[in-house]
Amino acid sequence: MEHLQVSEAQRLVLESVVVFGAEQVELEQALGRVLAEEVCANRDQPPYDISAMDGYALRSADLANVPATLQIIEDIKAGDMPTKVLAPGQCARIMTGAPLPQGADAVIRVEETEVVSAEALSPNSDETTSHSTKPASGQVAGYLPQAGERDAASLRELITNAVRINHAVKPGNDIRRLGENMFNGEVVLRPGTEITPGVIGVLATVKHAQVRVYRRPRVAILSTGNELEGLDEPVDPDKIPDANSYALMAQTQALGIEPVLLGIARDDPEELARYLKRGLEYDVLLVSGGTSVGVHDYVRPTIEALGVQMLFWRVAMKPGHPVAFGKAGEKIIFGLPGNPVSSMVCFEQFVAPALRRMMGHARIHRRTIEARLTHDVKHQAGRTEFIRVLLAKEQSGYTATSTGAQGSGMLLSMARADGLAVVPGDSSGLVAGSMVTVQLLDGTTFQDDAGFRE
Ligand code: AMP
Ligand code: MG
Repeated sequence: MEHLQVSEAQRLVLESVVVFGAEQVELEQALGRVLAEEVCANRDQPPYDISAMDGYALRSADLANVPATLQIIEDIKAGDMPTKVLAPGQCARIMTGAPLPQGADAVIRVEETEVVSAEALSPNSDETTSHSTKPASGQVAGYLPQAGERDAASLRELITNAVRINHAVKPGNDIRRLGENMFNGEVVLRPGTEITPGVIGVLATVKHAQVRVYRRPRVAILSTGNELEGLDEPVDPDKIPDANSYALMAQTQALGIEPVLLGIARDDPEELARYLKRGLEYDVLLVSGGTSVGVHDYVRPTIEALGVQMLFWRVAMKPGHPVAFGKAGEKIIFGLPGNPVSSMVCFEQFVAPALRRMMGHARIHRRTIEARLTHDVKHQAGRTEFIRVLLAKEQSGYTATSTGAQGSGMLLSMARADGLAVVPGDSSGLVAGSMVTVQLLDGTTFQDDAGFRE
């Protein structure tokens, strides 16, 4: 028990938690929640072949000999339905998202065409109103009446415009196919999916104005210690400001849960018992301070007296050695170290994965990256060590540099850190240039520059 590894402790925690039941929320409130239902498409998307570009819908076979001049028989905007069928030599002006007319098998984008006057369609004409300096007397596709069958005036009446196309396109060019995005009845989202903005877009596409998501655990946070001074109390130079209540609150909020702060319990068994009882009304109770062995540390006996079954009291890690975990029915309780950095690091290793599991997340662990150490790291074998580091992006990948002194009360270095570099328990130290696994912390999703070259 004394030398429980981090991974073993994590396993004990995760075995003790269950995924919560579901509730219905409005789509507007669903961001960051976890889907508790299978979601299927309720229609084909797109519902028909549509144009991917502003341009002309045409028959690709008409471009066998280019340049070719095609008669424009219709204007189709998004939201319109085509009313005509394309015959050989005909095309329709079409906007992005508009349905393809029957007969069309390709779209050419408007940038690759030029509008010419109807006369360009007449076999006898070489004049055009095109802005182009190139001659517009293109290949005329074969729909036109033979010269002499119709006079120029009636032809103009028939045709308002024509378009000249200088190069061929393949069948299917710039068409978004019916059902390309999703087919009616297809499973598009599965339970356990984290609801990101992209998922919200899909849910709106399939008309889910409400969505079933997993319930979130109710979390209470309690600080303990006679020396602590509440945020709302006047500054007393002899006291220690309560940082843990708020740092733990924020770590919980960052997971999408609004916790309840119970305040500060003095190191007195009766007061502590009162607070703990209140805390055990919640699904998850986080208690900081009082788990180390000391004269005034009553947390352990008081917790046990309340019927909580403790699964561990110590983990072979640094910082965070005195971290405890127990359960009472489906409720769980974490005894986090009083030192602010330790308490935050233990939250990351044990509390966050547990809360995410309860919320139905498939991904419960922090993203890790591999980074190159810029300096040696001394390590006493036996404990997994978490070192606060700054990350820098170099050509060859990321480098990790310690934030400096690693005292477990140095909260400022936690505030600066990009991540926690993990030194394995069996390591006898790492040398500069070696690779280390780094858990990314909140605040590292964004960077200063765009980070890519075009
Ligand atoms: P403990 O685990 O109670 O022995 O506390 C270890 C160290 O953490 C002591 O220096 C405490 O003063 C400090 N500490 C405990 N609780 C808090 C808190 N809520 N905020 C800031 N420091 C704390
Ligand atoms: Mg204490």
